[in-house]
Amino acid sequence: MDALLVAASWQALLIAGLLGASVGSFLNVVIVRLPKQLQLQWKYECAELAGEPIREKTQFNIAVPGSHCPKCQSAVAWYDNIPILSYLILRAQCRHCKAPIPIYYWLVEIATTAIFIALAWQFGLTLSFWVFGTALSLLIAMTLIDYQHQLLPDNLTYPLLWLALLWSISPLSTVTPSQAIIGAVVGYLSLWSLYWLFKLLTGKEGMGYGDFKLLAGLSAFTGVTLLPVTVIFSAVAGIVIGLAVAVKRKQSVPIPFGPFLAIGGVISYLWGETLLQSYWQWLGVM
Ligand SMILES: [Zn+2]
Repeated sequence: MDALLVAASWQALLIAGLLGASVGSFLNVVIVRLPKQLQLQWKYECAELAGEPIREKTQFNIAVPGSHCPKCQSAVAWYDNIPILSYLILRAQCRHCKAPIPIYYWLVEIATTAIFIALAWQFGLTLSFWVFGTALSLLIAMTLIDYQHQLLPDNLTYPLLWLALLWSISPLSTVTPSQAIIGAVVGYLSLWSLYWLFKLLTGKEGMGYGDFKLLAGLSAFTGVTLLPVTVIFSAVAGIVIGLAVAVKRKQSVPIPFGPFLAIGGVISYLWGETLLQSYWQWLGVM
């Protein structure tokens, strides 16, 4: 078992790769189903509050019904459901009706596999591997759901926050529990105040509460000192891409902020300290 804990042992990399591919495949299910499940749930809750009769509730969640083609409804057999490979073997089409399978399914599986292998390479199959693997998987699911539905479900943002706070207790964490707690609170409040300022000035909603919760989780990982790096990166990237899309479509379109926050958070965690140091040095030179 010790060999598995040593960084870059081939067994560790193999296990991480297989695990990453399966997690990627599961994330695809979450990305497609969680928003639908939440929308159904809200519909029932609204009907209940309004005292309207609910016609038969559809059984729908992450596990039920089994995987099927959204176009021809035929069930996906296990041999057509193999992570990474099935997409290639089926040439990105449903076996029965030839409906195209979107490439992002495949990209999610590839990305998750690559991330898990990289983490095992760096840490071996240690606690750090599991914590960062979970955090990055949550971020992948959030990024795609927010991109497609402009929605950051609590089922994903809260686990990231709790994970980050728990991780800060570990001696392996780069931040202390107090840095993580302050990071979470200040992260949440910084976007919350921007949201209200923007709303009072323009009457529009520029973000959603999911964005505040996501930044709270990210800042609990990075600590409060790197929070500005996360915010500046995501804001600049969001504004540049938002403007590019607006110019292309010749009208302003709402851009989900979650994907930018997720990427900004990861950059900040990996290189924030170095970036801050070079910034202070640059200021000192000026
Ligand atoms: Zn089909």
